[in-house]
Amino acid sequence: MERTPHIAIVPSPGMGHLIPLVEFAKMLKNNHNISATFIIPNDGPLSISQKAFLDSLPMGLNHIILPPVNFDDLPQNTQMETRISLMVTRSLDSLREAFKSLVAEHNMVALFIDLFGTDAFDVAIEFDVSPYVFFPSTAMALSLFLYLPKLDQMTSCEYRDLPEPVQIPGCLPVRGQDLLDPVQDRKNDAYKWVLHNAKRYMMAEGIAVNSFKELEGGALKALLEAEPGKPKIYPVGPLIQTGSSSDVDASGCLKWLDGQPCGSVLYISFGSGGTLSSNQLNELAMGLELSEQRFIWVVRSPSDQANATYFNSHGHKDPLGFLPKGFLERTKGNGFVVSSWAPQAQILSHSSTGGFLTHCGWNSILETVVHGVPVIAWPLYAEQKMNAVSLTEGIKVALRPTVGENGIIGRVEIARVVKSLLEGEEGKAIRSRIRDLKDAAANVISKDGCSTKTLDKLASLLKNKNKLSL
Ligand code: UDP
Repeated sequence: MERTPHIAIVPSPGMGHLIPLVEFAKMLKNNHNISATFIIPNDGPLSISQKAFLDSLPMGLNHIILPPVNFDDLPQNTQMETRISLMVTRSLDSLREAFKSLVAEHNMVALFIDLFGTDAFDVAIEFDVSPYVFFPSTAMALSLFLYLPKLDQMTSCEYRDLPEPVQIPGCLPVRGQDLLDPVQDRKNDAYKWVLHNAKRYMMAEGIAVNSFKELEGGALKALLEAEPGKPKIYPVGPLIQTGSSSDVDASGCLKWLDGQPCGSVLYISFGSGGTLSSNQLNELAMGLELSEQRFIWVVRSPSDQANATYFNSHGHKDPLGFLPKGFLERTKGNGFVVSSWAPQAQILSHSSTGGFLTHCGWNSILETVVHGVPVIAWPLYAEQKMNAVSLTEGIKVALRPTVGENGIIGRVEIARVVKSLLEGEEGKAIRSRIRDLKDAAANVISKDGCSTKTLDKLASLLKNKNKLSL
């Protein structure tokens, strides 16, 4: 039997979960010779981006795609968190089969799951493999997960109706309505699944979190305090997307960026799943035009559901057809529009990029911090409102446009915020703060940085399991 330590990784669906887990696995492989197999639950064919991403995994990182689960019994309005949790729960039999062959072939030392996959722990434990969590979101969201069972017991009303903000240990007080989307309706199954997973986090031997002290000092300090029964926490961030496929500039946006002045372009993207309503899409287009600033915009077809492309970011219709009449002609030269998916890592690292209008997904935030790009916060779903609060009120590296009474952010407000970020005094102050954070990020992942050392510690622990089983 091969003695190289090997881990299994079960990511929940969504590029935002897969990307940081792959980076985590690459670090373990390259720096510590721990190989990995990604085991992918699904409910049908993978998205184009997911498939391309898995097909380009480097040597030592393999993947197994499980048979699809059946969701025919779920009502149309079933929330994302319920689907994600059930995808893992309904895959347990096939996961067990996959584990059988992995255990026969490799020296399995751990299973890592992310947010909502804790039911997979049962399979790991059956095979005497240690259960771990890789938390691909904020330390603040992790603190909420660990605090949720207590908060649930202490509170009888909906969290949004609490008269006082919720005090998650170590974090800024958060208004109930700014907590994660799935905890907004405690009667919904999505809440029950979040709570179920949160309780099972205690079964983990350790939890790696994609964050670092300078970004989330308070939350991490509280998380690192040892308590009986609490898993050990490993802050290993920022782990961000590094690989790129050969057709990375299929749209030509990077070439276009090459020809723009330094720091002049606003990049606009709502992550892998974010979509705007038709009205909002129209206002954003008109606002960009009104601002007269340069931009690259990843456009998706509109939907009234904010996470409509979560399970397939490429959608089915041509998104450019939904832009206002004449918009593309009028903004030609100043703006570049990309359908559905852009090479975000390369755009954010390009010297012409001067701002990022983002839905505040955690990977997008880490990427913008690592590259020192100032932010406009436009949260849509999941934990994004909490992230927007940290960015604007905590570390103060973002502007947040005001939502109008009709629930839409209007074109004048959009133009104001865009100009302010790229040309105004507020933008300057933000730029200077995010540059400090960029330096701090570079420091923690340097050879002797905290996150590198923490990952080393975790890796040697995993390798020791290897020795014990020899
Ligand atoms: N991403 C990308 N191109 C796109 C949209 C997203 O490369 O057009 C990548 C982005 O760089 C990030 C991930 O997809 O690494 C999205 O993760 P995030 O946590 O920001 O948002 P989510 O998609 O999970 O809502």
